[in-house]
Amino acid sequence: MALDVPAALSRQIDEIITHYPPEQKSAPVLWLLHLLQDHYGHLGREQVEWTAQRLGIPAIDVWGLVSFYPMFTEKPRGKYHLKVCRTLSCEMGGCQSVLQTIQQRLGISLDQTTPDGQFTLSTFECLADCGKGPVMMVNDEHFAELTPEKTEALLARLAQSGLEEQPLPPVQPAHPAEKRLVMANLSQPGYDGSLQSYQAAGGYQGLRKAVAMQPDAIVQEVIDSKLRGRGGAGFPTGTKWKFVDKKSGKPIYLVCNGDESEPGTFKDRVLLHRDPHLLIEGIAITCFALGAKVGYIYIRGEFPKAVAIVQKAIDEARAANLLGKNILGVEGFDCEIYLHRGAGAYICGEETGLIESLEGKRAYPRIKPPFPAVSGLFNCPTVVNNVETLCNIPQIVTKGGAWFAGMGVPGSSGTRLVCVSGAVVKPGYFEFEMGKITLRQLVFDICGGLREGRTLKGVIPGGSSMPILLPEQLDVSLDFDAIQKAGSMAGSGGTIVLDDTSPIVDVALNLAQFYAHESCGQCTPCREGTLWMEKMLHRIKEGHGRPEDVDLLWDVADNIEGKTICALGTAAAWPVKAFTSKYKAEFVEVIGSGEGKH
Ligand code: SF4
Repeated sequence: MALDVPAALSRQIDEIITHYPPEQKSAPVLWLLHLLQDHYGHLGREQVEWTAQRLGIPAIDVWGLVSFYPMFTEKPRGKYHLKVCRTLSCEMGGCQSVLQTIQQRLGISLDQTTPDGQFTLSTFECLADCGKGPVMMVNDEHFAELTPEKTEALLARLAQSGLEEQPLPPVQPAHPAEKRLVMANLSQPGYDGSLQSYQAAGGYQGLRKAVAMQPDAIVQEVIDSKLRGRGGAGFPTGTKWKFVDKKSGKPIYLVCNGDESEPGTFKDRVLLHRDPHLLIEGIAITCFALGAKVGYIYIRGEFPKAVAIVQKAIDEARAANLLGKNILGVEGFDCEIYLHRGAGAYICGEETGLIESLEGKRAYPRIKPPFPAVSGLFNCPTVVNNVETLCNIPQIVTKGGAWFAGMGVPGSSGTRLVCVSGAVVKPGYFEFEMGKITLRQLVFDICGGLREGRTLKGVIPGGSSMPILLPEQLDVSLDFDAIQKAGSMAGSGGTIVLDDTSPIVDVALNLAQFYAHESCGQCTPCREGTLWMEKMLHRIKEGHGRPEDVDLLWDVADNIEGKTICALGTAAAWPVKAFTSKYKAEFVEVIGSGEGKH
């Protein structure tokens, strides 16, 4: 039966299709699936076949996406879809009690819908609000710092009066130890992120300066700034830009990676929601420097409000000739920014997985080389930069690369955003000059230390895939090289603090479940190894561990590390190697006593 798509929705779809090159037929597919699922509640045969026909692609390809991306569903869900985050910081914050409350109150188990069709319950992987766990999304609305009592009250409100739109949480005040540059606007009284507000704070001065410069001079300023990518790998941004093949004759693309999904990381969420014009200015400058006429912002599917907020800002910027054609009156400087909405796969944070997803495919990372700078999006030269990275660009252009490089320490210039979750009194997001505070100061001075009577077990310094540091290692300064020297990585800046109430086997199992769930399955060591690690940790937790399991776990992890197409395999291996070697005695004790049994 043909799908009767309402005219307004059909027009919206027609408009979205124009955001991609006409020959890239499958590129808009994730957008179409989101819109159809929002309207019809699920993606059944009619929706899939309509999508395939509208884009001129095989229906089997569309089915492949519906089954790959966790946010899509073939089955109708309840009126309210309760998506409870189960990843590490939310687990430590008590997400199991939230889940139990929902299950008891509604009489359903995971992935079930109440008989009246009102509620469906699911767990989701990291919802990127780790400092306020446990968190849950109900449809597109976000609820944080849940307790069983708050959950009960929320369920009652939903049943009685429906789902109300939730305001954004207030901006966290700056701590005296912070140096807010990227987040400078957020600390201004009355700042609302609008174009007017942004320009009143000096916004778009960087773009005005940039268009009077030679593009290569801008690239040189960024090289001089020594800015390193803030997404995880810490690669020098200017060098990445310089690799772009400007002579290929193909279009050049800039892609902003807004798929923040490394557990423990929730900084880009703040920038996307609170200062969208800062990002837009950074993208416009970067496009000018690279000669790119289109920039895509890939926003994770779990940030629906960010999609609306950033789109509004794009529309404001275009109306003010800060985007569009002949920007700021500069003949030939044309630049459009389009949003691309992800659908819940962690692997889309990997730059080539993200590119595949932008092309409307499963997010299978590519073998490199070729690197995206030579052959990226639509086989064209492409730069992929993280949100925070691009938000640094306006100030670097305005004040100069040398100014930026003058902050921080050698190897780590400028400031960076750090977010803290887990067992501290005052979790949150902060911006510090690189290398000027230590991890110990961060945990004990700035975040208020541990809750009363607790002792520190360890700190994961750069997102969940980074090796944990022991309490005696906390005097390391917060910069790329110092943390690497200590045996971990600064990664995404997501800092997870563990105290003595977190059994290390449970922590390792939680993360192993995450990586097993998120492996795209292309490489045998990652696909099989992550599942093996999860199974073994589960066995140990259930009290059926064997004495040889600790070394075997390390061995399995070692056989994944560095032997896969993308870094996810290594990201899954590092925590297990660190936990089993640094807390071996705890593993041995659990296995020996069978105390994990319950
Ligand atoms: Fe996929 Fe894992 Fe291989 Fe990356 S390492 S390509 S996630 S299977």
